[in-house]
Amino acid sequence: MRTGLAVGLVPVFRHHVAAGPVRPPVSLRTCSEVDMSQVLIVGAGIAGALAAHELEAAGHDVMVVDKGHAPGGRVATRTVGDAVFDHGAQFLTAKSSTFQALVDGWNAAGVTRTWFRGSPDLGSPDTAPEDTDASDGHPRYHGEPTMRRIGEHLSAGLDVRLGTVVEAVEAISGGWRLRGTLRDGFTPFTLEGHAVLLTAPVPQTLALLDAGAVRLDAEHRRELDEIVFDPCISVLARPHSTPTLPTRGAARLQDGPIMWLTDNQATGASPTPAVTIHGAGGWSREHFDDPDEVVGRELVGFARPHLGTDADVLYVHRWRYAKPTAETGEDSILDTTHTAPLAIAGDGLAGGRVEGAALSGLDAAARLIEHLAGVTHAT
Ligand SMILES: Cc1cc2nc3c(=O)[nH]c(=O)nc-3n(C[C@H](O)[C@H](O)[C@H](O)COP(=O)(O)OP(=O)(O)OC[C@H]3O[C@@H](n4cnc5c(N)ncnc54)[C@H](O)[C@@H]3O)c2cc1C
Repeated sequence: MRTGLAVGLVPVFRHHVAAGPVRPPVSLRTCSEVDMSQVLIVGAGIAGALAAHELEAAGHDVMVVDKGHAPGGRVATRTVGDAVFDHGAQFLTAKSSTFQALVDGWNAAGVTRTWFRGSPDLGSPDTAPEDTDASDGHPRYHGEPTMRRIGEHLSAGLDVRLGTVVEAVEAISGGWRLRGTLRDGFTPFTLEGHAVLLTAPVPQTLALLDAGAVRLDAEHRRELDEIVFDPCISVLARPHSTPTLPTRGAARLQDGPIMWLTDNQATGASPTPAVTIHGAGGWSREHFDDPDEVVGRELVGFARPHLGTDADVLYVHRWRYAKPTAETGEDSILDTTHTAPLAIAGDGLAGGRVEGAALSGLDAAARLIEHLAGVTHAT
């Protein structure tokens, strides 16, 4: 049998459908009926989706809930009119053999491709994807054609409920309860399962635990409290003429208010002119609450000399938790001090970046699978 209690209609994502069919409400079940095989995962980003596949492969019944409109989390793409913008992660690198094997599979499936090799720094020469002599040996991989494709691919076949905003995680007898509101803003829901894996950016995960009065052991709590994220203001703009960026269509900038520029038409993501401008961490923190028109105008102004053209701001996206600036010593956390296991994963625990998120999700799944197997054998 599927899930615990859900009040209201929850949108389901399946098989590359951004807003899937609506499921009928699930009937109320009590705590004593908590499904011992059910694992609830908060977050359909890279960590949550990869963990879900591992747990399903090990025979667990998994439901993934996410507050967003699309899977993938910070590996994200936004469409404004006919312009398409990758506005979160811009590329993947694979430094571990585990993640390289995953990316090789995505490349073979046409989900990603080698975008370029070598440094993305402004002024670094363009290096073709096939040039393995590039000074910085790591290939940079891109979603095909957009970064969102990766999250869509990873969510296919999973039970992913989008538009489902968790507000608290509560410990119940023999399991966990997620309490929240659907994205419509007024339909409450609760979901119950035996194990739970939390993959939101760490400060958000801690807020969910605090809201449910869940106490972690002091050492884990201290480690998690130390994980700090840089914000990023992302400005999506339509350039007046073709930007003068390197042929690869992107440039990383150092030491200024801008951290990154992408020409999304040059990457193949957008059919029409579309540039993504990412504010640097310090600048984004300082201006995080400034009005859209102010941060938009300022970042476009800073970008103009590098783009060689002016641009009209179409959208401003604020990533409050963009990139972790500190990490823990463990790739994931498994807390077994309650009556059922609670795991925590995400990029903040494993070195940041998409690769860190992937390794963290896989680590959490492995630990949960091992723990749950031990519990099953003992009963
Ligand atoms: C602007 C920017 C540029 C970046 N550039 C790069 C790059 O070029 N290369 C690279 O490797 N990495 C880059 N990163 C970092 C990379 O995107 C992340 O490290 C990675 O995607 C994190 O994955 P995750 O699964 O840990 O978390 P997330 O992707 O954040 O997934 C967590 C999910 O949890 C959901 N969630 C959160 N709270 C709730 C809640 N209360 N209820 C329900 N759901 C919830 C969110 O909607 C989200 O989908 C960039 C990030 C940003 C923001």
